[in-house]
Amino acid sequence: MESTNTTRDAIFSRLDEVFYGSDSSSFGANTSTDRTPATAEQIAAAKRISANTSDKGYRRLIAHGNVTSYSKLSMLHDCPRLYELEVLHQNLPASIDIAAEAMQENIDFAFGHAVGAGIQTYAATGSLQAGQLACWMAWKAPYDAEKTDANGNATANKSLTWALYAVEKFGWFMANELADWEVFVLPSGKPAVELAFAVDTQNGYFHFGHIDVILRHRNTGRLAIWEGKTTGFENVKDATYGNSYQALGYSVVVDAVANLLGLADPDYEVLYIVYSSKAREFQLLPFTKNRTQRAEWLQDLLLEHAMIDKYKELGFYPKRGESCINKYNRQCEWYGSCHMRNQSLFHGIEAPVLTDIHGLESVDFSFTLAELVAAQTKERG
Ligand code: SF4
Repeated sequence: MESTNTTRDAIFSRLDEVFYGSDSSSFGANTSTDRTPATAEQIAAAKRISANTSDKGYRRLIAHGNVTSYSKLSMLHDCPRLYELEVLHQNLPASIDIAAEAMQENIDFAFGHAVGAGIQTYAATGSLQAGQLACWMAWKAPYDAEKTDANGNATANKSLTWALYAVEKFGWFMANELADWEVFVLPSGKPAVELAFAVDTQNGYFHFGHIDVILRHRNTGRLAIWEGKTTGFENVKDATYGNSYQALGYSVVVDAVANLLGLADPDYEVLYIVYSSKAREFQLLPFTKNRTQRAEWLQDLLLEHAMIDKYKELGFYPKRGESCINKYNRQCEWYGSCHMRNQSLFHGIEAPVLTDIHGLESVDFSFTLAELVAAQTKERG
C-alpha cells in the first residue's frame, strides 16, 4: 500500500499543476486551457456548489415517510418492498451518515458528483480553476481511487484525474454547443445552480427534487433545465431520457418558478448534458416538454402517492424478484432478508412524518400543488 506521505505529495503536486499552470495539467485537443486565477467570488461559488452535491440536510428531509423524490419513486417502481425497507433503514440512528459514507466509497458516485460540481461551477463562474476546485472538493473517495473491472483493469476512465479532464473538456463543449445559453441568475443574485425544491401535494405528501442548473437563452430569454449525467456507454440514445419522469417534473417546477418571476413560455426545454467516460466526450440531448406532458406528470405523482397509501393500508409492499439483480449487475443488499418482519429488522423504528415545508433551509423554492396547477393553466401573453 502506498504511504500516506507519497499520496499526499502526489495530491499537492497535482494541485500545483492545476492551480499554477503546468503544461502537464492540460489534456490536449478540445479541452479548455484557460489558467486565469479564480477570484474570491468564483472560489466561494465552487465551495457552495461542491457542498450542495452532498447536502446532509436535504437527505434527512428525504428520509421522511411522507416525502417522495425521483430516486425514491424509481425504487418504488423497481420493488415496493425495497422502497419500504430503505425508508426504514434511512431512519436508523446515524444511518444517514452511513449512507453518505457508502456513497462516498462508490467510485461511480464520486465521479458523477465531481464532474457535476466541476462543470456546474465552470458554467456559473466561467473559471476553469474554480470548476476544477469544485471537482476536487466533490471527489469523495481516496485521491488515487480508480474504477476497475472484474480483472482489476482500469478501463472505465473513472478517477479524479479523469474527472478533472471532463471539466477541461466541458470548457470546450460549452463554448461550442451551449454558446446561446447562460446560467440564469435568480433575483437574489444567486446563480440558478443546484436548486432544491419542495412541493406540498396537499394529500399528506411532499415531493422534493434538485435541479442541476436553470439556463437562460441569451437572445430569447427562454429558460431551460440542464440535467447532467455521466455514463459508461459510448453513445446515449434519445430514448434513454426522452420520456424521463425526472426531467418532466423539473419542467413543471421551472414553469412555476418562471411564473413567479414573470417570465413566461408555454414550453420548456430540458437539455441533457451527458458525459461518456468511455468516449471521454460530452453529448447534448435536448427535449421539449409541453403543457400536456407536464399535466400528466402531476397526475402521475398523485397516483404514486395513492399507491403508497394503499401499500401502507394493507401493510403489504410486494416484492419484485426481477429487481434482485439491478441494471449494474449488483445484487440487492436485502436479498436473503427482505422476507423478514420489519419488527425483526428495525425494532421500534418508524419513518417520521413531515408536517410543513415553509422555512426549510435546504430548499430554495416551495410550492403547493394548487400553485403548480395554476402555473400550468395560466394564459400568458
Ligand atoms: S431482494 Fe429483491 S425482492 Fe427483496 S427487497 Fe431486494 S429487490 Fe426486492
